[in-house]
Order: sequence, then structure tokens, then C-alpha cells
Amino acid sequence: ATPVGLLAGTGRASQLGILVRGPEVLEDSRTVDTIVLDKTGTVTRGEMRLAEAARAPGSPVAADDALLALAAAVEDGSEHPIARAVVAAARERGLALPEAVDFASEAGGGVHALVADGHGGRLRVAVGRGSFIGSLLGPEAISADAAAAFEASEAAGRTAVWVAVDGRLAGHLAVEDTVRETSADAIGRLRRMGLRPLLVTGDNAAVARAVAAQVGIAAEDVVAGVRPEDKVAVVARLQAEGATVAMVGDGVNDAPALARADVGIAMGTGTDVARQAAQITVMGSDLTQVVQALELSQRTLGIIR
Ligand code: ADP
Ligand code: MG
Repeated sequence: ATPVGLLAGTGRASQLGILVRGPEVLEDSRTVDTIVLDKTGTVTRGEMRLAEAARAPGSPVAADDALLALAAAVEDGSEHPIARAVVAAARERGLALPEAVDFASEAGGGVHALVADGHGGRLRVAVGRGSFIGSLLGPEAISADAAAAFEASEAAGRTAVWVAVDGRLAGHLAVEDTVRETSADAIGRLRRMGLRPLLVTGDNAAVARAVAAQVGIAAEDVVAGVRPEDKVAVVARLQAEGATVAMVGDGVNDAPALARADVGIAMGTGTDVARQAAQITVMGSDLTQVVQALELSQRTLGIIR
């Protein structure tokens, strides 16, 4: 390949709103045969809306709105799409967010902070997935009744998270996201280019399968419930099986997998960390541009060969 052809390719890419880190990236992209897609914010809009705030049996919190306000106080410190939905819902309901200090987050797990209780004291409030809350409260904290309500909301295709207050299970929140209008078409084009698309997510299997079905990804190509460090393992396993892998993502949790992939592609609307880890960044938030980037790499070399 001549550098001139590749440079022309990167120039054409930038006209399309696709930033390519160096001419050689287009050459690497040409050999990609497998494409791993992050779900939230990549295939879906990543704009979640709160669908449910429900106290657990025996909750230390007096009302569902109080549960939401405490959770929102903590989530105000997080950039996660779930966090944004929780804070937005609390504001829409006109709830005052109590002051929160000592915020901490675990990527792909959840968040916690000390939240003012309104009486001069503070409550330790945590919001996150079952394994995260289980690691804080112990596995017995989640009763069968509470788990049934949580699982019912996941079975409805929602993403549910637990809320714990001062070491006790307080309830759960559930959010809903929507698939981007262009995702199914873009994934169809990737398939016709000969690529195998996989969906990888930290989210639960019910949501992941529902999204996969909407965009034409086979159930066996869905990897759900993965922790951020395990997204890298998914990429590495595919590589060990002989695949040349592109990874597409937007989140902090996607960065290691973006770096590990043969070609990392970040959504422009995603986090700085994801963009820095990737070799290609598409300006918008649309998988169509990912298709264009890969088509361009095929065409660029096609011309100069
Ligand atoms: P995805 O791969 O879909 O982008 P993440 O790895 O970011 O998902 O998150 C995986 C799971 O971790 C979420 O579904 C949620 O249960 C939990 N989680 C992560 N961050 C938060 C947060 N700020 N608030 C509540 N739960 C969170
Ligand atoms: Mg994401």
C-alpha cells in the first residue's frame, strides 16, 4: 500500500466526520472480520428514562419518591446513562436532592456516597448491580421477594439497579433505553461486508437479547453481564480463536477493550477515555459512520493495489 493512497483515505474519512489516528489504521481495518459492539450508547441511544422506583419489602425508606431522591443524590456524581436518568426523573418529580459527599464509583458495578438525611446525619447510599450491592451488604441482604420484583422488571426488558441505604436493601430502580433508528440497518451492512457482529454489555441478559433481536444479532453472539475487565477478555478470546477484531464503544468501561482490539472505534458522543483508547473516532453517535469507516478502508486499499 502506498502512503499516498492511505493518506487520501484518511482525508476522505475526515470529510465524512471520521477521525483516523494514522494512515496505517485504515490498513489494519481492512482485515477485520469480527465486530464487537457495546450495547449502551453504541447500539442504543444510551438515553435512559426512569420507568420504576420501588421500595423493597422492609425498606428503611418511607416512600418511593424518597428512595428516588436518595439514589439521585448519589447518581448526581456519575456520568453513567443510568445515573443521568435517575437524576432527571428526580428533577421531573420536583424532588430536592439531598447533599452528598464522599462519592465513589466502581466501573460496571455502581456508585455510593454519604447522603444528608435531613436531620443533621448522613446515610451511606449505594446504587448498582446485584454483585456490587451484594459485595457491600452480603449476599443474604437481597430477599427472595425483593429479587422477584427486580427480576420481573428485567424480564420486561428494563435495566434494574438496587438501592441500599445504611447497609440495608431499600429498593430498586429500573430504566429503559431505546435502540437507535440506524443501528439495525448499519449492522445489516456490516454483515453483508462479511463481518460477524457480536453484542457485549454489562447489562442483564434479558435486555441484551431484546436489543440483539431488534438489530439482527444472533442470540449466541450476545455476551451479557460482563464486567468492564471482561470486555477485554471477550476481545482477546475472539483473537485467540483467529478473529481480527474491531471493537466499537463509548464508555470508560469500553476503553481497555478498545485498546486491545485490532481496531478500536469510539463514538464521538462517548467519553474522552474511550476516544483516547481508540484508533478511529466517529464524530456522531451513529453506527452508520462505523460502516463508512470500514468501507472506506476496504475501498482505499482496493484503489491503490
Ligand atoms: P454497558 O456495558 O451496558 O455500557 P456498564 O458496564 O457501564 O454497562 O454497567 C454495567 C452495570 O453496572 C449496569 O447495568 C448497572 O447495573 C451497573 N452500574 C454501572 N454504573 C452505574 C451507576 N452509575 N449507577 C447504577 N448502576 C451502575
Ligand atoms: Mg456504553
